[in-house]
Amino acid sequence: MIHNPALAGRTDIAEDTPGHVHHYRVTTTFNDGHMHHFEGVTSPPIPRRRGGHYHLIEGQTTVNGRTPHSHAYRGIAE
Ligand SMILES: [Zn+2]
Ligand SMILES: [Zn+2]
Repeated sequence: MIHNPALAGRTDIAEDTPGHVHHYRVTTTFNDGHMHHFEGVTSPPIPRRRGGHYHLIEGQTTVNGRTPHSHAYRGIAE
């Protein structure tokens, strides 16, 4: 099951240099009120046509919820 949770946290600020990455730590809340945490390191920067860049993130959340489970996530960090 793949969710694409809105990123409630922000990556740390890094120099806009080729090949840089960001560390991220996010808490996400789902519709029924349970939450998960996830953190990791983004992909290298992917340039946008109009300038700037974004990064891809992918991984597995912590195990939480009334019935313990985790989610795979995949998204974009700007
Ligand atoms: Zn960046
Ligand atoms: Zn969940």
